[in-house]
Amino acid sequence: MKYFILPNLINNKWSLFRRKFIWRVNCSQYKIMIAEFMLQRTKAEQAEPVYKKFLLQYPDIVSLSKARLTSVEKYTSSLGLHKRAPNFINAAKYIVKNFKGKYPKTRKELLTIPGVGDYVAGAIMAVCFNNADYVIDSNIARFIDRFYGLKLSGEIRRKKIVIEKAKGIFKVKDQRNFLFALLDFTALVCKPIVPLCNECPLRGKCKYSPSSSPT
Ligand code: SF4
Repeated sequence: MKYFILPNLINNKWSLFRRKFIWRVNCSQYKIMIAEFMLQRTKAEQAEPVYKKFLLQYPDIVSLSKARLTSVEKYTSSLGLHKRAPNFINAAKYIVKNFKGKYPKTRKELLTIPGVGDYVAGAIMAVCFNNADYVIDSNIARFIDRFYGLKLSGEIRRKKIVIEKAKGIFKVKDQRNFLFALLDFTALVCKPIVPLCNECPLRGKCKYSPSSSPT
């Protein structure tokens, strides 16, 4: 199957399952990083009100770089991220010190920022620079595993074949909206426990779906 079919199918049906989050409006590298730090253990709907208050107190990288740990902990502990408050401040300090307050534009450099892992780096590259070779979180990895009938186990998002497939599907013109569509699709349709195959725009193409057709 050609890779371009996938983004087309998802994007064409995106209006059916699109979620609107505040960090998707006028998004910047800073907003995406803060949102993704907060979403590591928390559902988006729960993180959104905390995110709004956080951005009011720390609207940019410089203000966060000067934050007191106890002040940031007020936000992170309400999200169950008790030990991660230092990441927020350390990331901001690192960017101010090493990149003069501007986010670097390569995955390799983004990965040097404290707390920024492969997924956050990929998300920043896709959403802000339209230049990610791939983006994978556990939901996207599960979807790739199902769609291509890979039947992998363990830490599947780190498997070479999953990264290769992700690289293929991220060859799109508009990576920002494709990523948002893919995140919404994998959260609401290709769900972790019981995927909604009967309502899925990819049924018939997906190897996991009982109604898939031979390719
Ligand atoms: S058909 Fe089912 S398993 Fe396949 S992508 Fe759609 S929801 Fe996921």
